[in-house]
Amino acid sequence: GQVPVKRALLSVYDKTGLVGLATALHAAGVELVATGSSAAALVQAGLPVTGVEQVTGFPECLDGRVKTLHPRLHAGILADRRRPSHLSQLAGLEVTPIDLVVVNLYPFTETVRSGAPFDACVEQIDIGGPSLVRAAAKNHAAVAVVTDPAGYDQVVQAVASGGFHLQQRRALAARAFAYTAAYDAAVATWFAQQADTAPETASATPPDTSPDAAGHSPQAARAPLPAYLGLGYERLATLRYGENPHQRAAVYTLAGQGGGVANARQIHGKAMSCNNYTDTDAAVRAAYDHPGLVTVAVIKHANPCGIAVSASGDVAEAHRKAHACDPVSAYGGVVATNAPVTVAMAQQVKQVFTEVVAAPAFEPEAVEILRARKNLRLLVVEPPARDGWELRQVSGGAVVQERDTYQGGDDDPATWQLACGEPVDPGTLADLVFAWRSVRAVRSNAVLLAHDGATVGVGMGQVNRVDSCRLAVERANTLGRRTTGDAAASDPTAASPAGAPGSSDTSASGSAAASSAPAAQADAVEQPGATAPQRARGSVAASDAFFPFADGLQVLAEAGVKAVVQPGGSIRDEEVVAAARQAGVTMYLTGVRHFAH
Ligand code: 5GP
Repeated sequence: GQVPVKRALLSVYDKTGLVGLATALHAAGVELVATGSSAAALVQAGLPVTGVEQVTGFPECLDGRVKTLHPRLHAGILADRRRPSHLSQLAGLEVTPIDLVVVNLYPFTETVRSGAPFDACVEQIDIGGPSLVRAAAKNHAAVAVVTDPAGYDQVVQAVASGGFHLQQRRALAARAFAYTAAYDAAVATWFAQQADTAPETASATPPDTSPDAAGHSPQAARAPLPAYLGLGYERLATLRYGENPHQRAAVYTLAGQGGGVANARQIHGKAMSCNNYTDTDAAVRAAYDHPGLVTVAVIKHANPCGIAVSASGDVAEAHRKAHACDPVSAYGGVVATNAPVTVAMAQQVKQVFTEVVAAPAFEPEAVEILRARKNLRLLVVEPPARDGWELRQVSGGAVVQERDTYQGGDDDPATWQLACGEPVDPGTLADLVFAWRSVRAVRSNAVLLAHDGATVGVGMGQVNRVDSCRLAVERANTLGRRTTGDAAASDPTAASPAGAPGSSDTSASGSAAASSAPAAQADAVEQPGATAPQRARGSVAASDAFFPFADGLQVLAEAGVKAVVQPGGSIRDEEVVAAARQAGVTMYLTGVRHFAH
């Protein structure tokens, strides 16, 4: 049941609300014990306070490293009041029990983030504070622990009404353990990174750090993955449901990270769903894979419906081209860009049923235009981290890998090897580079056709490569329309970037919204047949991994693809290259693959 609060220990780095809390505790007859500057703040407010040195008989020392690490305090917190032997020991040792512990910790994460030097960060690792918090949480049967100034009101209410209930103390203990766990996880993660770059690791024979042909340093020369993973994830919000309505879900932020999709600022629209988060993440990453170029990615179910860049830096043009790749699938998709959303782009997006638009910024008028779509979510997203580790759970544990991002090695065509055919002209080479940098955003097996800085056919997620080739060609020749030489598509006021009402795909999270798609846009999707766009002919292709046989390459060649970029490295490379040569297809080998599962 309820335990009355007679004695409280206050030791807080963040003094927010401290005096107000202490004043109320004092008024309720609670004896106040406090550490150094916490006590000083109370004295200044005219409150009676017992310094911890008076309790311990031992001075705070070592620049504050030892303040509360003393049995006179910890015995007072940890004694189990239900055990007579504990109470008699306290009496014999002349230790007064403590019923309430109010602590918040040294600002370790903030210190690291400020760029402070190593020793200064180490000094901000709180030792006594977590010990107090954990002791009080362990003994929640009698002790209440509060680690957040936002919880002080609850303390005042509880004390005034005769003390905390067991249920309240348990809930406080759960939060307290989560608090110290996240704190230690942040310390552990930071420490692992520091250990990898420790100054005294220089050995007699320095490792070979010369990069390979693709510009990658050899494995041995790169920092090892951490021996322990700090899991400092903190829940930001509960979601309505997970991937499916019967699954519960929530979104978490990684302690001390900030930025990225998890920490995006939503400025309009319905609450984000679980699938919105994962699709938006895929879209934002794809939008940042073309450094120096304004890029738009349209994503559905984590795969691109279209990706495009604008040579002139016009985000609306990039959106038109990305959308035109597959307007059928773009319906209910997520749009992300690496450039501010302009009025012209907003006018186009407004015409398409879209779940999320993510961008680093929006022109104010663009926001006004998009607000007309009540449910459309608008997210301001800081550019995602380009490096770091990705964690994916497997049953019983997890696999961790470095992120596959733009690295400058195989992304530079100067590192490619011409396997057969004539070297291509600069425009075609630019398209090959675009295709190569885009294909990593496609789930494997991935084959991507591109033309004029835009995808025109994406074959994704097949379990063999020849099917991915067929899919890419078929989609190029049956969906959307050409974006060049097509008056409707290149006219910004035309309604070309439209969804396909009643299209076969209503699997997006809002099937009810299908009816809100513009009704007069059916012409945006051309039917296969005589009027079909035949966009495979004259396009270029990228394959995320090598062709194991010549069959996939032959499918591309027969469709009129003029140049192909792929890693190479198959034992049948010769057959594949021979087939390309015979068909008059230029082929480049990058030596690096980009699977994405
Ligand atoms: P104050 O500002 O009151 O002097 O100190 C409060 C801070 O000291 C709190 O953040 C608390 O977590 C921390 N703290 C309390 N006891 C100890 C201790 O024994 N050692 C260290 N390093 N920090 C402590």
